[in-house]
Amino acid sequence: MDFIPVNEPLFQGREKELLLECIETGWISSEGPFVREFEERFAARVGRKHGIAVCNGSAAIDAAVHALGLKAGDEVILPTFTIISCAASIVRAGATPVVVDCNPDDWNMNLAQVEACITPRTRAIMVVHIYGLPCDMEPLLALARSYGLLILEDAAQMHGQNYRDRPCGSFGEISTFSFYPNKHITTGEGGMVVTDDPQLAEKCRLARNLYFQERQRYVHDELGWNFRMTNLQAAIGLAQLEQVDGFIERKRAMGKAYTEKLKNVPGLQLPKPRADYAENIYWVYGIVLEDPAFPDAKEVAAHLAREGIGTRPFFWPIHKQPVFQRMGLFGSQTYPVAEHISIRGLYLPSGLALTPEQIDRTVFTLKQVLQSV
Ligand SMILES: *Cc1c(COP(=O)(O)O)cnc(C)c1O
Repeated sequence: MDFIPVNEPLFQGREKELLLECIETGWISSEGPFVREFEERFAARVGRKHGIAVCNGSAAIDAAVHALGLKAGDEVILPTFTIISCAASIVRAGATPVVVDCNPDDWNMNLAQVEACITPRTRAIMVVHIYGLPCDMEPLLALARSYGLLILEDAAQMHGQNYRDRPCGSFGEISTFSFYPNKHITTGEGGMVVTDDPQLAEKCRLARNLYFQERQRYVHDELGWNFRMTNLQAAIGLAQLEQVDGFIERKRAMGKAYTEKLKNVPGLQLPKPRADYAENIYWVYGIVLEDPAFPDAKEVAAHLAREGIGTRPFFWPIHKQPVFQRMGLFGSQTYPVAEHISIRGLYLPSGLALTPEQIDRTVFTLKQVLQSV
């Protein structure tokens, strides 16, 4: 019995050809020509003027937080249901993360709670689109405008997705992407900051490259990082970007197939297929076990693993992270929706290389496991 991995990327374009070109020309470092080309093409694709390629999506958030100048005393509102990277960047910058719960249907941040959290110290909202449907950006942008707040958009799960007719990654002051192998396009490891603001772009470029300056090499005015992307990564990224529309189609077909086959299974919450502003692109196909027969998703995940099917749990909420609790960051506040889905949620194999046969076997096995309790 073959194992069905939770994710497997798909390389059917010019990945090999462009990688080979790196080797043959000797351009393997971040100085190679594909990096600039990837930045330009990717930024154009998401409707931004500037792209700054970095070594991963977490680094992209660090660079963006740095460029926005978020610092001690500033509060940044973000969803509690997201990856650690979002809050980590805020904390490392010395600023204060303020979290909100998520919506029960699309798992995106609750906008009513965002407004309720705004104080005179609030500087920015970090909006994170979760699992395949974007956040409702119009009311969020209106809120930011009326309170004079910056928007950092984490679009790591949203390549090729639109909010109405505008690409995700084009909203607010600055947006970030990841190209980890489970994202809609990958570079192995990789990320990108995109913005329309030339000053923010310049800050990200400098921060990415240790604040080396043109004027005098090895003299540094500020502290940055080595967040550079290599030409090898950019070569894969260029080839992947050429295929993004097909990738989105594949993901939507995967989501539709799962939903069709699972919609009559009792006790399961399935991903919301669409909002009035977007169709789900199923970064992952997440399900929440609502049947009280299960205390959480662990037993089902273990059972599926024994049957050769890889799954992953949902994000663990930011306010429950031991590292932040030790810092005394979120007190005793509870966020019931995020807590519920983080305990009862898991996602099924969702990679681009997933076949219809693998979807069938996953569904068949899941149904068996659910009935065996
Ligand atoms: C994947 C992801 C990241 C982090 O990206 P890495 O490339 O793994 O560092 C950040 N934010 C979100 C929402 C993600 O899904």
